Amino acid sequence: MQVLKFGGSSVANGENINKVIELVRQALTKDRTVLVVSALGGITDMLIRAAETAAAGDETYKEKLQEIEHRHLEAVKALLPLTRQSAALSAVKTRCNEIEDICNGVFLLSELSARTQDKIVSYGELLSSLIVAARFAALDIDHQWLDSRTLISTDSLFGHATVDFLRTNRQILQYIDASSSRLFIVPGFIAADDKGITTTLGRGGSDYTAAIFAAAIDATSLEIWTDVSGMMTADPRLVSNVKKIPRISYQEAMELSHFGAKVIYPPTIQPVMRKHIPVWIRNTFAPADPGTVIEAEAVPNGGGIRGISSISRIALLSLEGSGMVGIPGFSKRLFEALSGRQINVILITQGSSEHSICVGVDEANATAAKGAVDLAFQPEIAAGTVEPLIVEPGLSIIALVGEQMKSHPGVSGKLFGALGRNGVNVRAIAQGSSERNISAVIAAGDVKKAINVLHEEFFETSYRQLNLFITGAGNVGRRLIDQLRKQQTWLQEQLRIQLRVIGIANSRNMLFDNEGIDLANWKTRLETGEPMELNRWVEGITSRNLRNSVFADVTANDDVASCYAALLQKSISVVACNKIACSSPYGNYRQLKDLAREYNARFLFETNVGAGLPVIGTLNDLLRSGDTVRRIEAVLSGTLNFVFNHYNGERPFAEVVRQAQAEGYTEPDPRLDLSGMDVMRKIMILTREAGERTEMDDIANHSFLPASCMQGGVEDFYAALSNEEDHFKQLYLAAAAKGKKLKFVAQYDNGKASVGLQHIGPEQDLYHLYGKDNVVLFFTDRYSEQPLVVKGAGAGAEVTASGVFADILRIINS
Ligand code: ADP
Ligand code: ASP
Ligand code: MG
Repeated sequence: MQVLKFGGSSVANGENINKVIELVRQALTKDRTVLVVSALGGITDMLIRAAETAAAGDETYKEKLQEIEHRHLEAVKALLPLTRQSAALSAVKTRCNEIEDICNGVFLLSELSARTQDKIVSYGELLSSLIVAARFAALDIDHQWLDSRTLISTDSLFGHATVDFLRTNRQILQYIDASSSRLFIVPGFIAADDKGITTTLGRGGSDYTAAIFAAAIDATSLEIWTDVSGMMTADPRLVSNVKKIPRISYQEAMELSHFGAKVIYPPTIQPVMRKHIPVWIRNTFAPADPGTVIEAEAVPNGGGIRGISSISRIALLSLEGSGMVGIPGFSKRLFEALSGRQINVILITQGSSEHSICVGVDEANATAAKGAVDLAFQPEIAAGTVEPLIVEPGLSIIALVGEQMKSHPGVSGKLFGALGRNGVNVRAIAQGSSERNISAVIAAGDVKKAINVLHEEFFETSYRQLNLFITGAGNVGRRLIDQLRKQQTWLQEQLRIQLRVIGIANSRNMLFDNEGIDLANWKTRLETGEPMELNRWVEGITSRNLRNSVFADVTANDDVASCYAALLQKSISVVACNKIACSSPYGNYRQLKDLAREYNARFLFETNVGAGLPVIGTLNDLLRSGDTVRRIEAVLSGTLNFVFNHYNGERPFAEVVRQAQAEGYTEPDPRLDLSGMDVMRKIMILTREAGERTEMDDIANHSFLPASCMQGGVEDFYAALSNEEDHFKQLYLAAAAKGKKLKFVAQYDNGKASVGLQHIGPEQDLYHLYGKDNVVLFFTDRYSEQPLVVKGAGAGAEVTASGVFADILRIINS
């Protein structure tokens, strides 16, 4: 014989029930069959809500009951021919009247006991099984409807009754043996105690009913038909890229369901495991999919992890105190206090000092637990040797499950590493001694992120996700978005990185899209986005709590730079082409670097020096590999280089500067470049990266710009440049007379940094530098005779954007 169970969504309406009937017909061609059905999808919840509404003295329970009746009547009408409908419709109405009578009583008494609730919810399965049976009758398929309450005997723990297997097995066997039927239709979830009073087996308990039947009759297989094509590597509602687990052991399935994989009700495995009956998880809506088989042996799989699950609404209870050290019996008393209130313990950890025991329980039980435990330890609490129970609600448990975990060292390292990199704080951990699972208690708000991070870490060969927030959509920002758009497919195919832009903001608007902004039409969407408010922008980023989040700052804005600390503290990496933070007072720069380290985030700013050129990266590589930098000589201003390369004393200096600005090579205020300030910031950042505690005041600036040019606004500046044309001409002619060029050079030598205009001759490395190029010469112990040279375009939106892009990718690859 075989047992098939169909869940709530499989029997949600007439159309779905027809699919079930077809699958059962096919099954009947193979063997005698027990068919277990759940209530129509959602009906159990609706019944509970109606009962609670009645108990609260709210008459709208009647409307809820009408809705319930309507759902069932509709199903009958969809399934049965008109000639057969009236009997079934009146059977449904009779049952629904009974529910209403009971709810009226609950309303009058303003009281809903667990026993009455069981009675009310039992109608869900009774009705669904009667409707399914009526459909088989209409099709002239021989069958027998069984009342599970006469066959499954339990204790009187209403809502969660315990099965008396001896009696139950005997009753089921006797009944089935005495019948010649090929098809038995059984309501799931419900049972009765020894007085015949209706009980239920716990939410999701129809799976259990099916397993009880399967074990009692020694079925050849148990098939659980639901709305997913098997057990998945994680909850498909939380992770979009789950994979089906083709085969899994009983133990693994039990662990996954214990820790929240709703696809199978945890106690279901026990009875079938004892009899070695294989359990199949199949999809009613995709019956051709083979599904998952749960069996005795665990087939080895690559990483040692079979699946990840999670339970939310957990409270952590901690019992602490010096009075617990070395004295036996404390944990026994704790667990007795909890079990005395029927409180199920989901997870236990104890520190090796024996100074504290932590247990995880359902949050709904927290208050009862606190009362019971504080009462049990009253003498010790009064004596001050044990603290009153500490209750922390709002937590969740995530569990990694896999039979092969024990033979794969490093699983927990990977677990904690991945969580740490994403700023998920672990409150407690537990590892079963069987080494079949590792579980961690984390904040409820972190669950989605944590599960996705772990899923990527352990299962995703297809891609890793990177969630990007771009601040600034000007020259550089626009090009960055363009480059990202062009590269998205390549990154996914070649590097297995799914790069999603979740937010874009400019100075006027901000736009978020949790599914990723379509980069083909971001401009129009941003224009109609919400007004930009920096606080709300940052709040929107942190509260989304997405894994592998990166904040890209492509502005030159002070306020934006002041947000980095808050982001890094949430483990959100920051990529900045904005130089303000790194050139702010040393303490701030240091704090940001330290925060990045502390919170496992990255703070990258390669484009602060030399735009897209690998200047900072090269310096870091030299230092990390043990080299010592003795001297740096550099031309770091694309703007100044452009200006001095184009100025020959003929076309006015002011005009050349204007051209540089028009072509996008200057800062928004060109005086930052012309005064040498921008170069000072860059050499300062390099010296800081080389380990010096440099401030701007420590850098000597031999500026060539007359003081008159620094007054007023940008237009005043251009006017002053014109007035000073003679000064610039003299500078040029003095160099040209010696056959030399003017270069604005930054130097770092013996711990001292300086910037200033120099005459450079053709024999020097800095001489051959065209357009907006930058060059950096590193003289080190290893590069002592000839310097290591980094040279190329050092300004321009396209190359800066590509430098930012490279930093972003560095984060996911780190
Ligand atoms: P039924 O009503 O058929 O009993 P359930 O809703 O109880 O169905 O269980 C199926 C649901 O379990 C799926 O729709 C899925 O959302 C959820 N689920 C949670 N974790 C897992 C997992 N690891 N694999 C498959 N499904 C899971
Ligand atoms: N109908 C019950 C519930 O919703 C049992 C089940 O569907 O398994 O909990
Ligand atoms: Mg279920």
